[in-house]
Amino acid sequence: MDALMLDGNAVAGLLQEVFAVEMTTAVGTCGGCGASDAVGAVHVYRGAGIVLRCPHCDAALMKLVSAGSRVWIDCRGLRTLEVAV
Ligand SMILES: [Zn+2]
Repeated sequence: MDALMLDGNAVAGLLQEVFAVEMTTAVGTCGGCGASDAVGAVHVYRGAGIVLRCPHCDAALMKLVSAGSRVWIDCRGLRTLEVAV
């Protein structure tokens, strides 16, 4: 983990607002390496937006950009996202 990186808990509030379920315990499967892990374990990078990266292969799992009351979400790097409902 480097100085600019946070873990998935850093974006728990935003993800929970968007998906309306508890997201830190949601399990994502990486589209790159196939590893499954809790969202709380992903690596988070903040810049103009937020990038969630796989802790195993560093592939971009999800990108989020928010502006005002709108959020753009790119989930191309996720094979699946399992949430408790
Ligand atoms: Zn991966």
